[in-house]
Amino acid sequence: MSYCLHPDCCAPFNPEDQKICRGCGSKLLLKVRYRAIRPIAKGQFLHLFQGIDIQAKNHPLVIKQILLPYPLLRAVSQRKIAIEVLHETSEKLSRLAEAENLQRPLEYVVSGQGIYWIEEPLIGETLSEILENLPYLSEEHVHQILSDLLPTLDELHRHSLIHRAICPDNIFYAAHTGKFTLANFGLTQLIVEALYKEIPNLGEYAIADPMYSAPEQMKGRSVPASDLYSLGVVCLQALTGIEPIHLVDQCGKNWHYRDYLRDRTISDSFCQILDKMLSAALINRFLKAEEILHQLSVIQHPPSRQSVITEADASLDVFGYLFHHSAKTVADCVQSIQAVTTSFASFFLPASKED
Ligand SMILES: [Zn+2]
Repeated sequence: MSYCLHPDCCAPFNPEDQKICRGCGSKLLLKVRYRAIRPIAKGQFLHLFQGIDIQAKNHPLVIKQILLPYPLLRAVSQRKIAIEVLHETSEKLSRLAEAENLQRPLEYVVSGQGIYWIEEPLIGETLSEILENLPYLSEEHVHQILSDLLPTLDELHRHSLIHRAICPDNIFYAAHTGKFTLANFGLTQLIVEALYKEIPNLGEYAIADPMYSAPEQMKGRSVPASDLYSLGVVCLQALTGIEPIHLVDQCGKNWHYRDYLRDRTISDSFCQILDKMLSAALINRFLKAEEILHQLSVIQHPPSRQSVITEADASLDVFGYLFHHSAKTVADCVQSIQAVTTSFASFFLPASKED
């Protein structure tokens, strides 16, 4: 199967060896090597495709098609800026030697009117998928998220790169490595911010996720600390199992996640770190990832892995969780507990960093 990348193609499915789309006449290969097989997800500004590299024994990859609103790329100068910023980012990302837990692009491709980003596929579950099957994560596992991702963010920021799209959908956990990885660099947000000076009313194209984005990022002015804010929101969601919108007041300034920790004890020092990551005002927020890493290294360590909730404890917690979320029947509860314990087997057993 070969899938046409033209956004308006009326017949995108083509035979495997086809080079020109039978539906619209577009070329089906990018750079005469990358072939889309099928769509994975289609958002407003970004389409994802499963693809292969026909020059590398059909090696699997992900093709990201960046689709900015037409007015943004109408002028040649704006399109030039977008391509330059992608080129610069791709070059910087490929040179990051120490950013271990980061999905990096193989290359970017400009073809016709399309801009594409080619990446290796990630193996594992997203944090969103994990949180669908677990009521919440322990303090220790949230520490692990931070200790895996903060060095990566530190490396990004030291090279003047900002991720801009940190959320549970973009954090992968691979059981075979026991590591969390940051994926899906915020390409569309990057381009929109690069065009900020060109288009005065760019605000209407604000495409950052308001649930995870810092106030300054929502105004198109991301700074490295914006990533730290987003990661803090992710930590709260992981600790509580509650979506961020329910954890913050209407002004978006005061987080009351402690109300949702139920009877669990989370260390005060850890909460203070989270509070500082989540400050709406930049002046009160951590500005560098290494500052958080330092704070984490000096606070008392969280409970040892032996005291991390067991499957049986988790089942009990699930009953509380289901009660909280109004499970309708006993069958609902049994089905959900089975899903949770299955996920525990896949998530916790191979996850031990210390093992
Ligand atoms: Zn087509």
